[in-house]
Parts: sequence; structure tokens; C-alpha cells
Amino acid sequence: MTVNLFDLSGQRALITGGSSGLGLALARGLAQHGAAVVLNGRDVSKLDAAVIGLQAEGFNASAAPFDVTDETAVRAGIADVLAGGELHILINNAGIQRRAPLTELTLDIWNEVLITNLTAAMLVSREVAPHFLARGSGKVINILSVMSEVGRRTISPYTAAKTGLKGLTRAMCAEWAEGGIQVNGIGPGYFATQMNAALLADEAFTAWVSGRTPAGRWGNPEELVGAAVFLSSRASSYVNGQVIYVDGGMLSVL
Ligand code: NDP
Repeated sequence: MTVNLFDLSGQRALITGGSSGLGLALARGLAQHGAAVVLNGRDVSKLDAAVIGLQAEGFNASAAPFDVTDETAVRAGIADVLAGGELHILINNAGIQRRAPLTELTLDIWNEVLITNLTAAMLVSREVAPHFLARGSGKVINILSVMSEVGRRTISPYTAAKTGLKGLTRAMCAEWAEGGIQVNGIGPGYFATQMNAALLADEAFTAWVSGRTPAGRWGNPEELVGAAVFLSSRASSYVNGQVIYVDGGMLSVL
């Protein structure tokens, strides 16, 4: 008998920020491994287009529109998701980037980046965790960044948020592992998505990424799927509080 440790049949996954970029690639990847996927985002037309696209590919996909930074909306949104069926996997992926030198940074920008990239993962997980704990199982995957380990000019709030999210991953593991929840992180390097549109348009920057990355190129969003399927599946049943960096070797080589 063959055993597929990575099979996600019968599993239902919520992906925040699943309507584009890495989140949509992760949703499609989990669906390709058998999961039913619930996509979250704020822009309803973008979200509906993503869901319709996945359904047209034959996948079980639905939409959960809410703003992950709005505590009341998160509470109502997660209640709706859970009313639609059991949930087994949560990917905290929604995120934004705002660039400004630290001396010119406004408190509004700082707060916007921190609440979206860090606080929101707490808000969403806090609503989902009781459901996971009641069943005695559940997978939380936080999308970190290489900025969880290193700094770079003009993105101080993002760096602080992603470093904080690594700490939150460990804190959630400390509180929930005994209840059967696994909380891990994935730290992407540089991937070609809307978030990096300005960088992709900058020839000098794209050349820097290719030169600085041992793999010699940007990542394709599909290349994050393997780590996400691993952390969503039985294959990772004793992995907890860890971060997998999917960065073409960037953090390991100077
Ligand atoms: P995109 O800009 O392509 O997608 C971001 C997604 O997040 C969209 O679906 C957006 O939907 C959603 N979103 C943003 N704010 C909110 C909110 N307040 N509530 C609900 N949804 C929200 O970004 P990427 O795919 O590139 O990034 C995804 C994650 O990966 C982020 O956490 C990012 O920090 C991380 N990452 C990305 C890297 C890369 O190279 N691309 C590298 C390292 C980490 P809507 O517009 O409807 O709000």
C-alpha cells in the first residue's frame, strides 16, 4: 500500500490575502493536493475573480472577504468561515509593504504596516485557535520574510513586523502545541508579485536580487507551495515553532 504523507484531502484551509500573489499560489497549491480552500482579502472583485479562477480549474474554493486588521470584522469573518464547515489549516499571509527612510517615517505608516503584517496574524489566529483546540488539531502557517532575520534600508516597519511575527510564531507554539496545534513559519526571499512591482520595474534592483541570491534569480510563487504543503500535512506532524526559509539560499550565503 502506498502512503501519501502530503495528501490534504478532507482538509479545509483559510488563506488570508489569498486573492493574489503568494497567497493565491499557496491556495492553488493546497487545492492541488486535495484541500478545500477559503480565500480572504478586502477587494471583493479581486477576491471573487480569484475564487472563480480556482473553481474553473476544478478546485473547491470559496471567498471570505474581511479586513484582517479590523478586530470586529475578523471575529465576524471567522465565524462565517467556521459556519461553513470545519477548518484545519490557517495561513496568515496577508501583508503590505510601505517604503520610507526611517527619519521620514510617519506613525500612520508604521502603524499600518505593523497592524497588517503582525497584529492581524494574532487577531485571526486568536479567533481560529479555539476551534482547533476543541478538535485537538490544527495547522497555523505564518508567512514571514527574510526580513525576519536581516534588515534593509527604507523598510523598517516591515522588518520589525516580520521579526515580530517570528516571535509570535514561537509564542503561539508555546501556548497551543499541547492542544494539538502546530504553528510554523515560511520565510520567502524575493518573489515576483504585485507587492514587488516597483522593485521588478527597477533593472538595477532586479539585477541586485539575482546577484545576491545564490540561486541567481527571483523565486516563482509556485516554489513556496512545497513548504506550505509540508507544513499543512501529516508529513510535518512533529514540526512546531519552526521557520522554513524559501529564499534560493539568500540567508545562508554572504
Ligand atoms: P500581494 O500584494 O501580491 O498580495 C497581498 C494580499 O494581501 C492581497 O490578496 C491583499 O488583498 C491582501 N491584503 C492586504 N491587506 C489586507 C487586509 N488588511 N485584509 C485582508 N487582506 C489584505 O503580496 P505578496 O503576495 O507578495 O505577499 C504575500 C505575503 O508574503 C505578505 O505577507 C508578504 O509580506 C510576504 N512576503 C512576500 C515576499 C515577496 O517577495 N513577494 C517576500 C517575503 C514575504 P486586498 O488587496 O484585497 O487587500
